[in-house]
Amino acid sequence: MSLLLDGRVLSENIRSQIAQEIKEYTSKGYRAPTLAVILVGDDPASQVYVSNKEKACQKVGIRSLSYRLPSNTTTQELLELIAQLNAEEEVDGILVQLPLPPHINQQEILLAINPKKDVDGFHPENMGRLVARMEDGFIPCTPLGIDLLLKHYDIDPKGKDVVIVGAGFIVGRPLSLLMLWRDATVSVCHIYTKDIKEYTKRADILISATGVPRLIKAHMVKEGAVVIDVGISKEGTKIVGDVDFEEVKEKAYAITPVPGGVGPMTVTGLLLNTLKAYKLRFLYVG
Ligand code: NAD
Repeated sequence: MSLLLDGRVLSENIRSQIAQEIKEYTSKGYRAPTLAVILVGDDPASQVYVSNKEKACQKVGIRSLSYRLPSNTTTQELLELIAQLNAEEEVDGILVQLPLPPHINQQEILLAINPKKDVDGFHPENMGRLVARMEDGFIPCTPLGIDLLLKHYDIDPKGKDVVIVGAGFIVGRPLSLLMLWRDATVSVCHIYTKDIKEYTKRADILISATGVPRLIKAHMVKEGAVVIDVGISKEGTKIVGDVDFEEVKEKAYAITPVPGGVGPMTVTGLLLNTLKAYKLRFLYVG
């Protein structure tokens, strides 16, 4: 059995440090960091994610402002709300839960968010800061959470073969940039990759973010690899990842569980980004 990379325990530790830091600010009379959370429509999974994020904010002392909009909200109406929140001095972060309903122009929405309040890190300016390795940008929450998890367990990507399966906008692509920043040799596979296992078998660190349940089997994993499972799929009432955990845990040096691995670290990434936005905008400290 391999080492379990426990995102729950690490998250609890980081979140209690965040809570402590916020308490220090508020006890000096400063206002609390504030995050505006926008959910359009009634997708059940998005509702769960958003309410988890709001609960996590409350627990650490981040004020969350909730905007639940009907599924027939137009791009224009959403742009107006974002403009209002951009102008609101007390709002440090703006999160628009993705995916948006198909009639809304997602690119236009992401571009409209003030990059200094873009705690999800999806604005092209923040993606550019990630390419340019600028510390004052916002790294998307899941890649940030994975980076923290690796650091905590002393797993340094430097010089390692990191293989990412999944090249999505939210996880795979920004994660590939972050792993390059950490001096890894990065390969990114996706649905059109000819033979995925030719890549995965070489990975010192294998990260899967596809949403295809049990895509990664033991024969695709190198003995002693670190395996990070980002996938979240529902099988009946059970949540499963991209990795066949039972098989792969016997071969890997370390592995994340699903649930309890990357999921909590993603929310912790959001809390850290919100605190960072607050400090940069309101306290003027980096
Ligand atoms: P996406 O749809 O944007 O991207 C999926 C990627 O996987 C694409 O690049 C696609 O080409 C690739 N892919 C699909 N099937 C494949 C296959 N059979 N072989 C190889 N590649 C394949 O999705 P996303 O938003 O990046 O999310 C991916 C998964 O991660 C989903 O299950 C999502 O729920 C999960 N997720 C989890 C967290 C978390 O906190 N744990 C956060 C974000 C997303």
